[in-house]
Amino acid sequence: MTATDTEALKERVCTAIDDRANDIVSLAESVQAEPELGYKEEKTTEKLADCFAEMDLDVETGLAVTGARARAGSGEFVAAVLGELDALVNNEHPLADSETGAVHACGHHAQLAHLAAVGYAFTETGVLNNLDGALELIAVPAEEYLDLEYRRGLINDGEIEFLGGKQELIRRGYFADVDCAAMVHAADETPGHEITTDFSTNGFVGKFITYEGKESHAGSAPEEGVNALNAATLGLNAVHTQRETFADEDHVRVHPIITKGGDGVNVVPADVRAESYVRAKDISAITDANTTVNRALESGAMAVGANVTIEDYPGYMPLQTDRTLVNHYNDNVQRVLGDDALVAERSHLTGSTDMGDVTQIVPGIHPWIGGFEGNVHARDFEVADTEMAYLLPAKVTACTLVDVFTDPEAREAIREAKDEKLSRETYLEQTRELRETISGEYLD
Ligand SMILES: [Zn+2]
Repeated sequence: MTATDTEALKERVCTAIDDRANDIVSLAESVQAEPELGYKEEKTTEKLADCFAEMDLDVETGLAVTGARARAGSGEFVAAVLGELDALVNNEHPLADSETGAVHACGHHAQLAHLAAVGYAFTETGVLNNLDGALELIAVPAEEYLDLEYRRGLINDGEIEFLGGKQELIRRGYFADVDCAAMVHAADETPGHEITTDFSTNGFVGKFITYEGKESHAGSAPEEGVNALNAATLGLNAVHTQRETFADEDHVRVHPIITKGGDGVNVVPADVRAESYVRAKDISAITDANTTVNRALESGAMAVGANVTIEDYPGYMPLQTDRTLVNHYNDNVQRVLGDDALVAERSHLTGSTDMGDVTQIVPGIHPWIGGFEGNVHARDFEVADTEMAYLLPAKVTACTLVDVFTDPEAREAIREAKDEKLSRETYLEQTRELRETISGEYLD
């Protein structure tokens, strides 16, 4: 295929996105208007399933409780495009659901616009007919690692094994024949045409901490009780004393919250609960920091003679972006957005995503896209530029996939990168190793 042919295909996929612009924006706004939390995204799944069906594709739903997928084309090289279905909780956000507090303050609705737009780009043009490529469209559940009591219930009921949706999809084999994976994510405070393509992220372990004491009358007989809140306070402060021991280059982040501090103020607290992540740049740094954190947490229980149970769950793996995809993507950013586009420099980000897990087994890309104002997850987060938030990055992705589908060298490079990745089995083994329960018993 000549460069002119490739350029013509890019024109066609971009025009198809323009032709569907109203439908794509409506989909995003409809998702934003009915935010749902992870593994509960029933309406949102239906919206995406309807959208895939409209592309004349066979749709599978209920991938992992929720979620929908469809495949376009029958070529051998399979490129997956992912969009996250779930919202997060922030009751302070003006668009928060009044009952659940759910809100798309992480811009996942824009990812679904991106997913639909890339789908239209290829299905409405017939471009795939002449190429050795297939497009796997996946609307994935549960990226935000929250609402964890509910999800632990799903685990206990045998509905899922992992708290994160992409982890669960990997376990269920949905990436078995996928050669590469792409998605986009909203970035903080970037109302203009900024895109960050080449970076890594922290991974983490998720923690549930329970301090068990003994209740008694808080005024007349505290000496009869064992104060679990005091144990937790000491445990968390012991964690803080360890912060200076974390090496800067490991990018450790530990951010516990207390989710239950006691029952009634006149009873010595006997059941106190906390949650935390321990994040760092790679598995060994995560494990090292986690050992330190667990020792510190236990010290609080020892000091007051309480019990502590620490349940560690696999969090998300660090993100690795693929060199070939990044190079093509950057070229297409210039093509679609022109010279005022800003492709930000490589860096390490201390947040985490379960796209990290996907990139442990499949070459992938997860650009941070502009078009948004305010801080991700905060009350002031909103779409600032509809075209940038919902449409332009999809053109970049579609053009990048045209490059990959038309260029045998690119496909070869991506397949070689895939050979270097973990197998699904090794990934699952490594991830499962992070599940651990530690107890310290000091209660008489
Ligand atoms: Zn997000």
